[in-house]
Amino acid sequence: MPGAKNSYPFKLGGFECLVVKDGPLIGPDNRAARSAGPKISRGVKIMDVSCLLIKTPAHLVLIDTGFGPGARPVIGGIPQNVGHLLPIMQKAGISPLEIDTLILSHAHPDHIGGLVDRNGQPVFPHARHFIPRREWDFWWSNPDLSMVEDNFKQAVLAAIAKNLLPLRDRFELVVDGTGIVPGIQLVSTPGHTPGHSSLIVTSGTQSMVCICDVLHWPREITHPDLASSSDMSLPRANISRHAILSRIVQSGALVFACHFPFPGLGYVLTDGREYLWQPYR
Ligand SMILES: [Zn+2]
Repeated sequence: MPGAKNSYPFKLGGFECLVVKDGPLIGPDNRAARSAGPKISRGVKIMDVSCLLIKTPAHLVLIDTGFGPGARPVIGGIPQNVGHLLPIMQKAGISPLEIDTLILSHAHPDHIGGLVDRNGQPVFPHARHFIPRREWDFWWSNPDLSMVEDNFKQAVLAAIAKNLLPLRDRFELVVDGTGIVPGIQLVSTPGHTPGHSSLIVTSGTQSMVCICDVLHWPREITHPDLASSSDMSLPRANISRHAILSRIVQSGALVFACHFPFPGLGYVLTDGREYLWQPYR
């Protein structure tokens, strides 16, 4: 798998992996707003959105799908330049038709937006589609979303209607501990959403934890009680953050975090008092 500034190849044991950057999320530049002079700002990067491809000896697996082709969500009044997963994959020589296993960590727009094309057809037609059962059941239960900002709520529901509804017969529902393909196991990490899940990837003696949206910024490694504004249950998210960080430190596993600065790879160390983030490169 070739590399480029928006794709990052690496190996985990016998698995070939490729991080693909779907795009950066940009927010209003508050520093510019506070300074004297014209209040014109192009915004500042808030966080990256990355997806992960894993080629095992038997499967080509994609974890999450970004915002989707042509998506132009507006955040804080700023149109976002995202939805680049497919062209970057194709530039790396990978066709969406080759993906045989598609795993969703949760049902937010930046993770499910790339499931269908503009005609409502599946982008990954040959893939088995997996989603955590608790996540699936929650979103079809007419849930109480009063804890979520209204704009975000509308975006989430629209993304579910566009991407999950047309594919509802395709999904296979998985639970904590499910081995999805050899070497890739689901682990339940709820709080960001009720069914949010992470993935433990193991090949030979090497392992990686894909924490998806358990944490959004490296500073949360040192301060795991910091909330993300999009966490639906802060107490539950805090429990998941502490549990997964403890597991990561004990195992020494590589970490992939979808929203950390691209490529979102690194290790969690401890000095005995607090956790520290050490980027992979
Ligand atoms: Zn996300």
